[in-house]
Amino acid sequence: RTIGQALSAAAEAWPDHPALIAPAGEVRWSWAELNARAEAFAAGLLALGLERGDRIGIWSLNNAEWALTQFAAAKAGLILVTVNPAYRLAELEFALNKVGCKALVTARAFKSSDYIGMLTSLAPELREAAPGRLRAARLPALRTVIEIGGGESPGTLPFAAVAERAGATERDRISAHAGALQFDDPVNIQFTSGTTGSPKGVTLTHHNILNNGYFVGRAMRLSPEDRICIPVPLYHCFGMVMGNLAAVSSGAAMVYPGEGFDPLATLRAVEAERCTALYGVPTMFLAELDHPDFARFDLSSLRTGIMAGSPCPIAVMQRAVDRMHLTQLTICYGMTETSPVSFQSAVDDPLERRVSTVGRIHPHTEVKVVDAEGRIVPRGTPGELCTRGYSVMQGYWGDPEKTAEVRDAAGWMHTGDLATLDEDGFCNIVGRIKDLVIRGGENVYPREVEEFLYRHPAIQEVQVFGVPDPRYGEELCAWVRLRPGAALTAEGLRAHCAGQIAHQKIPRYVEFVEEFPTTVTGKMQKYRMRQAMVEKLG
Ligand code: ATP
Ligand code: MG
Repeated sequence: RTIGQALSAAAEAWPDHPALIAPAGEVRWSWAELNARAEAFAAGLLALGLERGDRIGIWSLNNAEWALTQFAAAKAGLILVTVNPAYRLAELEFALNKVGCKALVTARAFKSSDYIGMLTSLAPELREAAPGRLRAARLPALRTVIEIGGGESPGTLPFAAVAERAGATERDRISAHAGALQFDDPVNIQFTSGTTGSPKGVTLTHHNILNNGYFVGRAMRLSPEDRICIPVPLYHCFGMVMGNLAAVSSGAAMVYPGEGFDPLATLRAVEAERCTALYGVPTMFLAELDHPDFARFDLSSLRTGIMAGSPCPIAVMQRAVDRMHLTQLTICYGMTETSPVSFQSAVDDPLERRVSTVGRIHPHTEVKVVDAEGRIVPRGTPGELCTRGYSVMQGYWGDPEKTAEVRDAAGWMHTGDLATLDEDGFCNIVGRIKDLVIRGGENVYPREVEEFLYRHPAIQEVQVFGVPDPRYGEELCAWVRLRPGAALTAEGLRAHCAGQIAHQKIPRYVEFVEEFPTTVTGKMQKYRMRQAMVEKLG
């Protein structure tokens, strides 16, 4: 099936069920309504001259138009390029040019300084351009800018006017597409988070991501009675696949609490819409749990959800399960290159396993853990995690060499993550190969040290990483954020470790910080912490 067919099927199966509830309930569309709007918008996109296989970018925070664009682009046979809303002009240009976007959907209201920045820098061309048609030297492929909630900026086309452009011909072509598009057509280019360096453009097909959404929903037993609260960004697979595509294949509703992440808005949306599932990266769950008004909210409708995207500390999982009624909370592990999810705990796995592992391999995919020479290691031994199956990407866009570096001839995706598998197939993510610290010839897994430090009552959040050291090759450094009102010194922290963990695991450097460098999805960028320490230590 294609994503367009999945939406049509949802509209037929659950026509009046809520599909999409967007900020503060302003938008409430049923599956039938979402489908009709997506078809109209898709026809409008064809009327703008876009053809099957063309790239259309979206650069916006979360809103109803985002979902509409995602489904419409799929119905029109276009490839949706999801651009990080935190990108500034240079990064936006890089992303759009890299994949040759012909159209861009963006929002006037969002990050207005960026947006105005973009328009100003393109102004000479824009002034000459006919409305809706943009021919800018710096964005040679880009022809149309579609503006959510606007159209007042020169040279752009209001979002609402797109559907009106379509005539009977385009509408017929959308119906014809429904049968003609292939499930292994590319439908999406997503950029990786950029946790370890610059983001890579990952090409994904209908088959890749629709199936992944389906299995993610199945692991949580989603049904049309469920409502998923999605405060995670849509531009990332966490929102658009694990959220939107899990919804379309299970009939569950998508609830967007707001454009960007706000713990209070999220708690409010869960209560007001009686959400049954909640998504987030660990830091989002922490922000909700630690919010001063947390106790005011009735979260009793919650049942399940997903914590993912980065290591999920056991203590955070446990608090979410205990305090947010998330008795069936699951952890996922995955990466953009695998659509994204490859491991997920099942709602009936024992709680102890669910909080301490990322679960077992998803259906229809394979896993192996290998050493540096590619040999399979014994269960329980850390090695590189490799996965294979329907979910492995088509490739990095326009970069067959980089694709071949991570996906071997036999189809195995080399994840770059270190993991162990236990006898029952439960997987533990030990860390990234890039983050592994080798101190004086001994492997130190920062994750293990972090888990130990998280048990200290004064510590709210902690990140451990290696910094270059002339004597030992690398030394261990910990960045610590203390709980409000708590006190701890570097000496105190080291004294706490002494005798409890091996001496090479005790951080030599300890920094107390208010904030950590993160990606917009809240993922910790250890390479930036490392850079900061290298500068500081000279
Ligand atoms: P880049 O590849 O650009 O450096 P990235 O790898 O963070 O960025 P994503 O594809 O968004 O980009 O994230 C996938 C990575 O996130 C995985 O390779 C893994 O390191 C980490 N990850 C995802 N889920 C988990 C989890 N449950 N536990 C630990 N790590 C996780
Ligand atoms: Mg990666």
